[in-house]
Amino acid sequence: MSIDTKAIAAMDRNSVLHPFTQLKDFASGKLGEPTIIETGKGIRIQDAYGKELIDGFAGLYCVNIGYGRDEVAEAISRQAYRLAYYHSYAAHTTDELAMLSDRLVKMAPGQMSKVFYGMSGSDANETQAKLVWYYNNLRGKANKKRIISRDRGYHGCTVMAGSMTGMKFYHDHMDLPLPQIAHTGVPHHYWGSYDGETEREFSARRAKELDQLIEELGPDTVGGFIAEPVLGTGGITPPPEGYWEAIQTVLKKHDVLLIADEVITGFGRTGSMFGCQHYDIEPDLITVAKGLTSGYFPLSAAIVGKKVYDVIENAADRIGAFSHGFTYSGHPIGAAAANAVLDIVEREDLAGNSRTVGAYFQAQLKEKFAQLPIVGEVRGVGLMAAVEFVTDRASKSGFDAQMKVGARISKAARDLGLIARAMPHGDILGFAPPLVTTREEVDEIIDIAERAVRVVMDQVIQEGQKI
Ligand code: PLP
Repeated sequence: MSIDTKAIAAMDRNSVLHPFTQLKDFASGKLGEPTIIETGKGIRIQDAYGKELIDGFAGLYCVNIGYGRDEVAEAISRQAYRLAYYHSYAAHTTDELAMLSDRLVKMAPGQMSKVFYGMSGSDANETQAKLVWYYNNLRGKANKKRIISRDRGYHGCTVMAGSMTGMKFYHDHMDLPLPQIAHTGVPHHYWGSYDGETEREFSARRAKELDQLIEELGPDTVGGFIAEPVLGTGGITPPPEGYWEAIQTVLKKHDVLLIADEVITGFGRTGSMFGCQHYDIEPDLITVAKGLTSGYFPLSAAIVGKKVYDVIENAADRIGAFSHGFTYSGHPIGAAAANAVLDIVEREDLAGNSRTVGAYFQAQLKEKFAQLPIVGEVRGVGLMAAVEFVTDRASKSGFDAQMKVGARISKAARDLGLIARAMPHGDILGFAPPLVTTREEVDEIIDIAERAVRVVMDQVIQEGQKI
């Protein structure tokens, strides 16, 4: 297919409000032309100008099965021809939806009972917040409504999910966060630990801080705690040793529900099917999206644990119907896409691939990057990883934000044919390639990334930066 790139670019510039884009620079052309992505196969995408890129971030950590999987396209098409839409209100269903839900309840960690569907990770987290409130209202604990999330946690951009997100620039000028949300410390050992503090000691301190926060707010006012098993957009940071054990003890002590936001970690990214399994987390509620359909169709789910669901069901005689839902909750095409995607995830053991190829990836990253003078930390688990850049490894001094070192390295990688994401908080290069990535492809990714880092390292030295 050949498209008129000039006309498309002009229409786009005139009419699309792009997320996370400097709008004036885009409108004026300073950011250059919009990148028109046309096709994808495996771990590669192609733009409309013929340039091929390795997608080292699987879109936005979602295209886990890789691009261009006919099997999923066919499942979507089949369902669209058969029945493109019907709702799931008032006990209506489709075969694909019922099968998907049965499958999710069985495969999810913890004691899960039911699945509620949305279209995005944000709306699923919005639903989780409402479930925390609903559950506590129905238990007669009308004040137990606050939800605690973590600094640098990312849970989406809608009003509630955006409030739970713990990064200031997602709140600024948007009147967020809402007062029902409180934030606690990020479990980032590299940046947060005291000199000589072990990971276990640091985890215990973070758990103690959470305990103190709940005590200060009043345990009767705190209903939920939301967290990603592995911190994602806030810096791709696996939890320090002992973190989840210590945190769960505090939550149990105060009868606070645990919402595991598995939007990134769900379906294999850590090397286990769910991040909760990887870190021995027993969630009450689980949020999934991205990998559920590998991005082939917008679909998310709030998976509801038995503890919460039983309270809701038991109250139904008294309060009536569960009054929450979207026109597209349980969309049959989304369900068909998810079933086809999960068939691939299971058949090709993509969690296993993430574990084994991921171990190779992590080892290679450490080998190639850890000794570079501008690399402060290399970290990750499975097929998600980050390299953090500093000017001085001993004092952990960061670059001046104006130098945009992370963004420049990401741009240099892109010019060399690799998408690796400049994470929004600090100078961090993030990787989350599709879970079908092979060892040979890992070698390609690492080779390009290393060249990109060296290009920018040389540039900043020439610009007079002391390293
Ligand atoms: N939760 C986590 C952990 C995420 O990483 C994201 C998106 O990156 C979301 C929620 C929000 O998902 P969405 O962008 O589909 O609304």
